[in-house]
Amino acid sequence: MTTVEQQHSCKSSGCDKPAALQCPTCVKLAIKGSFFCSQECFRGSWAEHKSTHQVSNPTTSYNPFPTYQFTGPLRPEYPLSPRREVPADIPRPDYADAPGGASKQEQTYGNAQIVAMSADEIEKMRVVCHMGREILDIAARALRVGITTDEIDRIVHEATIERKAYPSPLNYYQFPKSVCTSVNEVICHGIPDQRKLQDGDIVNIDISLYRDGFHADLNKTYFVGNVDAKSKKLVKTTRECLQKAIEMVKPGVLYRDLGSAIEKHARDNGFSVVRTYSGHGVGKMFHSAPNVPHYAKNKAIGVMKPGHVFTIEPMINEGSYNDQTWRDNWTAVTVDGKRSAQFEHAILVTETGYEVLTCRLPSSPKSQLKDL
Ligand SMILES: [Zn+2]
Ligand SMILES: [Zn+2]
Repeated sequence: MTTVEQQHSCKSSGCDKPAALQCPTCVKLAIKGSFFCSQECFRGSWAEHKSTHQVSNPTTSYNPFPTYQFTGPLRPEYPLSPRREVPADIPRPDYADAPGGASKQEQTYGNAQIVAMSADEIEKMRVVCHMGREILDIAARALRVGITTDEIDRIVHEATIERKAYPSPLNYYQFPKSVCTSVNEVICHGIPDQRKLQDGDIVNIDISLYRDGFHADLNKTYFVGNVDAKSKKLVKTTRECLQKAIEMVKPGVLYRDLGSAIEKHARDNGFSVVRTYSGHGVGKMFHSAPNVPHYAKNKAIGVMKPGHVFTIEPMINEGSYNDQTWRDNWTAVTVDGKRSAQFEHAILVTETGYEVLTCRLPSSPKSQLKDL
């Protein structure tokens, strides 16, 4: 608890003693006037007092980059909420506490040969990927017009630590949140903030988590309220692009060939394929070899072998494939402000083909694309 000089009286009902102790959560949230005379009174009032913290949505949000020329209508809405804590008993990846959030492991081994996982390691991947899917589904069920992306972050963070897992995005190269939420013209790496989802938005939720030494990674794009026909077509086509690539996976296939199937289907529907961001190996490291571009005629290295685990995560744009990055150094947006969609699965190469480690569960909500 923090001590202050000024004279206040105790917040605890029935106690009017001078109070100099302040609730640490209120201090963090900049809520004024929460003083208590003693630890006893603080603890005694906790059940009633904690509701004060629920007003997490500041009434005055602001654009932190007022001079930046935005490419579309979307704006960041700061302040970001305070950094969320991960309990000390949850094992953390190497970048969680590193300067700059850099992963030594990735810098040393990330571009080395693609590793084939042992049966034991594959089983661990199945477990963490299954959890990732559960968390994505929990976030999906919370989606509605008016929810902030920060609230989605809170839900994802809590579902992740509840499973004794670390939310992989948190502090990864200083990413400030536990999930990426990418709305409308955001291609990927959107930072959850105070913006409320609006009727007609599309939003991608990208979940990654680290448990028992392994990372899982998956994402989906969702409709919020009533979405226009063109956005529906974009999202549906993007999901189909992912499916076409997944169906090619088996031992002997070149990683560079996946992009041809993706780009053909995107172009056939009048859309373009983002080139700056790729799929990647996933497992002991959040991102490692192979590099998996989604566009045709790429020069990616590697041949699929049983035991390889990697993501395919095409980002498909309505207009130009070109991207630029907001001043937060993360949010990737389309240069023309038109919309972008993405889907991601983690795939295991088996002896005869593939296994989608992050596939839907019997409990997963019905796909919004089903009836299109
Ligand atoms: Zn992801
Ligand atoms: Zn990924």
